[in-house]
Amino acid sequence: MKILLYLFSAAFVLVGSCSQTKHSVKIEKLKENIKIEDSSLVIKYANTITAKEHNKIIYEFASKEFLGREAGEIGQHKAADYIKDFYIKNEIKSPLDNNQYLQFIEKDFFEGIIKNDSENVLAFIEGKEHPEEVIIISAHLDHLGVENNEIYYGADDNGSGTSALLQIAQAFKAAETDGYKPKRSILFLHVTAEENGLYGSRFYVKNPVFTLENTICDLNIDMIGRVDAIHKDNKNYLYLIGSDRLSTELHYISERVNNKYYNINLDYTYNDENDRSRFYYRSDHYNFAKNNIPVIFYFNGTHEDYHLPTDTPDKIDYDLLTLRSKLIFATAWQLANQDDRLVVDKAEL
Ligand SMILES: [Zn+2]
Repeated sequence: MKILLYLFSAAFVLVGSCSQTKHSVKIEKLKENIKIEDSSLVIKYANTITAKEHNKIIYEFASKEFLGREAGEIGQHKAADYIKDFYIKNEIKSPLDNNQYLQFIEKDFFEGIIKNDSENVLAFIEGKEHPEEVIIISAHLDHLGVENNEIYYGADDNGSGTSALLQIAQAFKAAETDGYKPKRSILFLHVTAEENGLYGSRFYVKNPVFTLENTICDLNIDMIGRVDAIHKDNKNYLYLIGSDRLSTELHYISERVNNKYYNINLDYTYNDENDRSRFYYRSDHYNFAKNNIPVIFYFNGTHEDYHLPTDTPDKIDYDLLTLRSKLIFATAWQLANQDDRLVVDKAEL
């Protein structure tokens, strides 16, 4: 019995290490084979994203008029309409029936936490070669509303992500207009009720417009316009969370794109599985990751105005927000245009 056990475990070790080698060789090949797509076009259209436009959008989106955009309240509906109007003005279509942009969520879905109906906003650019496959870029549109007569403006959280998403969409639209449609579709997904418990993104994955099997990845943007205390002296940074958790290739692509174009210091502190902040589980990308869809969460970390009425547009670093938005645009471009779809090598069953 002992011997048998020994033999069995020896065989297991052998098989284990052998397949591991194969796996790592395969992954190494993936890394070598990443071919950066269309670099001059990427730079050209990334440069349509500007600090001036970010400034304009965030001063409007995080203004008094939207009353802190509390999910289900009048200010949030206004914010959703603002986003919808932006897409209509820029002739960027919605993938929803009748081009209606708003994905309605009845109040029952919110389990009593939100008292009214709410909505996500969806727009997209259709892919030329694989229109059924989709790269999602997401950002939540809601925030904390009004408390004790004080408006929680949420300029960074998440005016910054919203503005990035709008300008990234505009950049893809400009490319499309010039005849450069992406190979795969790109969905611009603005979700509601993130602050109440990631409800809008949960609703989307339960009611997806593109099948989850054909959802290549989710690039989620939540707070990218500020600098946290740790990086005060070197603000050329961005936290990336999740990039290697489900797809090693996604992590390599993300790094390669950054090294090629922007050289931002990508900080993986919060990607540590033992990190106590647990940010991996705390924004909308997690609803995709749960379904084995690879994600990257882009985040500047928390700061002294986090979840306070003082998170206002004057404190956003617009040049930095622009640079970070360009990186996300370039990453999405690569994922939408490379020949083969992204490989998921670490799916959890
Ligand atoms: Zn947020």
